[in-house]
Amino acid sequence: MEERVFNFSAGPATLPLPVLEKVQSELLSYPGAGASVMEISHRSKVFAEIHANAKANIAKLLNLSEKHHVLFLQGGASLQFSMLAMNFLQGGTADYVHSGSWATKAMAEAKKIGTVNTAWSGKADNFVRMPKPDELQLTDGAAYVHFTSNETIQGITMFEEPETGDTPLVCDASSDFLSRPLDISKYALLYAGAQKNVGPAGTAVVILRDDMLAKVPEGLPSLLDYKIMADKDSLYNTPSCFIIYIIGEVTRWILDEFGGLEEMAAHNEAKAALVYDLIDESGGYYRGHAAKDSRSKMNIAFRLPSEELEAKFVANAKAAGLDGLKGHRSVGGCRASIYNAMPKAGCEALRDFMAAFQKDNG
Ligand SMILES: *Cc1c(COP(=O)(O)O)cnc(C)c1O
Repeated sequence: MEERVFNFSAGPATLPLPVLEKVQSELLSYPGAGASVMEISHRSKVFAEIHANAKANIAKLLNLSEKHHVLFLQGGASLQFSMLAMNFLQGGTADYVHSGSWATKAMAEAKKIGTVNTAWSGKADNFVRMPKPDELQLTDGAAYVHFTSNETIQGITMFEEPETGDTPLVCDASSDFLSRPLDISKYALLYAGAQKNVGPAGTAVVILRDDMLAKVPEGLPSLLDYKIMADKDSLYNTPSCFIIYIIGEVTRWILDEFGGLEEMAAHNEAKAALVYDLIDESGGYYRGHAAKDSRSKMNIAFRLPSEELEAKFVANAKAAGLDGLKGHRSVGGCRASIYNAMPKAGCEALRDFMAAFQKDNG
């Protein structure tokens, strides 16, 4: 087998090696099924257990109460931009925190359905930071307040939730889901595309508080109706069985390896510090995009002194087994995505490579 690289891709992203190995060992014949998880009925007892385990692991990691449903919905996080608005914004106004590229997309979809109030915008500052909760201009009686906890492209994180009182709080947590503890009781709805932190692409994990279901209007397409999907426990139609299985294995890995999200967060902080410290000590050779108090532990966006050096950096890193470091085409530069599954050794290797590159090209 060809050697695995350290994969800093923003998503689909690296998965824990022990999970890939377990999935490989079960690929042809899943215990109790005599067939691959890809080949068995989504109504079978074996799959029911796989599905229940994935939900139970997420519930355990987030301390979920009976009040929250865990759904696995297709169409990725982007379909949630629309589904959210179709279910809760018809005829109303929602507040959106305009924090970066993904918030921009979520707002554009919501505007097709209802009125979007920009509660705060970081656009004029090139999205280098997140707002403090008290900077938000919220609408009385808004249908919900939406924020993006981690802007994957700009590499900035909102560490404190907006204070919304009785207004439902909604979060796109695609790129920091299960990377740190969270007070889920504050959230009416939280969604995350699986391919950053919890599995392969093609599914959004949606955590929905029960009281929201009464607000779902009649007549939505069934697959876009949270009430139907919750009533049917994500099994209205054939779900993404294989992805749900891997989400169950990745969340099991977090529980086994780290015990919970406190340890997971400490691990992620230590990893990110390796790279940020190098940036801060480089005398301005590497320049981080994010303001210090908004620095993401998941995506580190940075520049070098010139675009030529950035291209050389990305190419040389790839040759050294550090792949996926090119920044998003919309912001340029470089980006290291170091989600839960990136081992500390990967961040150490990146730090060492960055130091050596600066020495040779400074
Ligand atoms: C990747 C990402 C999305 C889009 O996810 P898809 O599954 O590709 O639709 C949305 N929001 C954030 C914060 C993301 O990182």
